[in-house]
Amino acid sequence: MHAAIRNAFNGRSIARTSDLLGAGVGQHDIRIASRGAAIVRVRQGVWALPGAPSPVVVAAAHGGMPACVSAARMLGLWVLDESDAVHVAVGAKDRVHVHPGCRCRTHRVARCELGRRTGIVTMLVQVYRCGGAESFFVTLESALRQRRLTPIMLERLSARLPASARWMLGFAREDADSGLESLLRFRLREHGIDLVSQVVIGGVGRVDFVLGDRLILEVDGKPNHDAPPKRHRDLVRDAIAAGLGYSTLRFDYALIVHDWPTVLAAVLTTIDRGVHLNR
Ligand SMILES: [Zn+2]
Ligand SMILES: [Zn+2]
Repeated sequence: MHAAIRNAFNGRSIARTSDLLGAGVGQHDIRIASRGAAIVRVRQGVWALPGAPSPVVVAAAHGGMPACVSAARMLGLWVLDESDAVHVAVGAKDRVHVHPGCRCRTHRVARCELGRRTGIVTMLVQVYRCGGAESFFVTLESALRQRRLTPIMLERLSARLPASARWMLGFAREDADSGLESLLRFRLREHGIDLVSQVVIGGVGRVDFVLGDRLILEVDGKPNHDAPPKRHRDLVRDAIAAGLGYSTLRFDYALIVHDWPTVLAAVLTTIDRGVHLNR
């Protein structure tokens, strides 16, 4: 019977009662499997395997599959959105189901298969529509970094974005270390500030960005960045860079995401003083 259940789920973590019956699992077997926690009831006629990812189960309860930022998170992509609401793709003709604790965001798609995840091109289009250009850009650079987008997928993505958003495909890079780097570069571009990414400076090593000739911008968004050994290394790097005539500005997640005016003022004032130029 366990083999029949596996067949019914067919590599997914969600199945309908009709899938189970079709695979030869009878109503009686379904009851036994459910009582023995071999399958878990999601809603009327929909079952999950124990250990199914939570967004997949919530999406199935809602009537669809993870979409938008929820699908991006499942792929380990960086997302700007901080809420834990599940974004769900629901088929054009399918019903949205009310379920306990539902705070889902519904995205309509032509067709949806329970237990699957929204494809990456559609997912990125959803992120653009749902969270705007910034959200889209950080998730896009994260997908590029993970080499998840082939040239053909990028063409399809371009065709599905509004013309006003397509410039981001040309501006995006494959080497952004974190969404914070993407966000910093994106936001400073709006002020006409051009950053050179991932610059190797002799004696210092690779820095996140150089602005002009002499200003280093570092983004501390990586785990354990404030652990003592790393903190000491950063101070050493800054000291060596200063000895070579560079100035360094460092920003972290809280500053870039939640206190952008402070970051912008620091950068603009430093530029006004000409600190970034060789003199
Ligand atoms: Zn969304
Ligand atoms: Zn819901």
